[in-house]
Amino acid sequence: MVTGGAGFLGSHLADLLLERGHRVVVLDNLVTGNVDNLAHHAGNRQFRFIYQDVTEYLFLEGRVDYVWHFASPASPVDYLELPIQTLKVGSLGTHKALGLAKHKGARFLLASTSEVYGDPAVHPQTEDYWGHVNPIGPRGCYDEAKRFAEALAMAYHKEHGLETRIVRIFNTYGPRMRLRDGRVVPSFISQALKNRPITVFGDGRQTRSFCYYSDLIEGIYRLMLSESHLPVNIGNPTEKTMLELARAVITATGSRSRVVFRPLPQDDPKQRRPDITRARRLLDWEPRIPLEEGLRQTIAWLSTKNAI
Ligand code: UDP
Repeated sequence: MVTGGAGFLGSHLADLLLERGHRVVVLDNLVTGNVDNLAHHAGNRQFRFIYQDVTEYLFLEGRVDYVWHFASPASPVDYLELPIQTLKVGSLGTHKALGLAKHKGARFLLASTSEVYGDPAVHPQTEDYWGHVNPIGPRGCYDEAKRFAEALAMAYHKEHGLETRIVRIFNTYGPRMRLRDGRVVPSFISQALKNRPITVFGDGRQTRSFCYYSDLIEGIYRLMLSESHLPVNIGNPTEKTMLELARAVITATGSRSRVVFRPLPQDDPKQRRPDITRARRLLDWEPRIPLEEGLRQTIAWLSTKNAI
């Protein structure tokens, strides 16, 4: 069972699970997901789609071995527009997904986020850092929902002995991100393809570390099969400033775009880079796809959408 399985990462996860011989049930209310991401599975008897909000009671017949809880808006632009739905899916939705896992005796994996570290005072971020989060700021709805979700998963593990896994996902990009997703990679690519100005927020010296989706999904799959209930960072530790990213996108697209500066949104983290020592040790995992290669693939995919 993959909640949010019609979204960017959920649908790539569903693909990988089917490829590896699992049967997959996707649950999605299509608030930010899109069935086009799953259209290639139409008619596949190993695959089923349920149109439902994960905050409502979940009923599934038959055996369920794994519950992957991926449902949530994840772009700052989306969760700014949908703060209550974001809080509900992280809290009530996580509760329902955990309840289903408990009822079925399934293993549960929570798609958590580097946002639990907020605007981090520790760099790079290790899993034992508790974070620096503004609960009432614009990102609070997402950050606190995911922090609550982690606490709930740990409580189900401790009280009910549920097998739980927590992945803290750092910035990820790739095909199936929506053109108007609002996150920086599709925004810059979309602007570059149209030779429009690239909108760098603030002075562009804030950093992120971008992981290609296929690396991330492989790490998460390994985490589900591992034996650790403690949070694990999955992401690419190669750190870039937003100005560096803008230049990389301009080069990769051969665009005539220039960079323009726009105000930095409130509480925008100044730096972010995962410490992936735990993932390396526990999962024998590290990312393989360099930014240039991932950007090429993403640009090729977004070009087809950009033409529309
Ligand atoms: N950003 C930017 N221009 C844009 C969109 C985003 O400079 O058009 C910046 C944003 O301020 C942040 C970084 O890019 O510093 C990453 O933003 P994103 O929305 O992708 O996710 P975040 O990592 O902030 O959750």
